[in-house]
Amino acid sequence: MMGHSHALSGAAVWLAAAPALTTLPEAIGHPELAAVTAPILTGPELVAGAVVCAGAAMLPDLDHPSATIAQTFGPVTWLLSKGVNFVSGGHRHATHSLLFSVLAGAGAHLLGANHPVGRDILVVLMVGLAIRAVGIGVPGKTLTSAIVNVGLTAALFLTFLTLGVTYSWLGLAIGIGCLVHVIGDCLTERGCPVLWPIKKRWLLPWDIGIKTGKKFEKQFLGPALSIVVIALLCLRLMPA
Ligand SMILES: [Zn+2]
Repeated sequence: MMGHSHALSGAAVWLAAAPALTTLPEAIGHPELAAVTAPILTGPELVAGAVVCAGAAMLPDLDHPSATIAQTFGPVTWLLSKGVNFVSGGHRHATHSLLFSVLAGAGAHLLGANHPVGRDILVVLMVGLAIRAVGIGVPGKTLTSAIVNVGLTAALFLTFLTLGVTYSWLGLAIGIGCLVHVIGDCLTERGCPVLWPIKKRWLLPWDIGIKTGKKFEKQFLGPALSIVVIALLCLRLMPA
């Protein structure tokens, strides 16, 4: 699946699941976790959550040196992705699994709860990734696009800061974003090893999986997901 499909589906799933997420602590019998989920539905937190989840939905492709994410911050992300590719066993291995999603979510939660500066750096990276993924920039101008990205990322982060966004839900958004990516890739013709380290790939039967970057994804899925994200945003932010 292409970067923008992953990012848009991450935002869509977060916006769709937000009300259910706030009831999760009661549902699983841990009401003390309400501090994590309580702010999710308030306006600025909801938008921040959707953006962070969109960025996190790009993370598993850090194992692919030519994916959007690997090219986001120049040689830094390219080198990082070369390293992840080597350690995780190549494209669509360890990072495309349930285990990776849970570990990424738990790691982000611990970072968010204990290191405010680390948390802010992670949030800035996720915002930058989300903006890059949906293709905001100047066509054919890499440097100008990078400057636009940095400017927009800073503006969005500072807006969230001014509005007092807590990021209590950071780990949840990162974990869900990664999981949405894995499910998205399971809908493609190559599938994913969801239960890694078990190597079996999960994919749709009878070769009906989406072909990455082809007509269906570019001309239908991308626009459809954009409409879903905008519709959900309107629905959630509209005064009752
Ligand atoms: Zn992938």
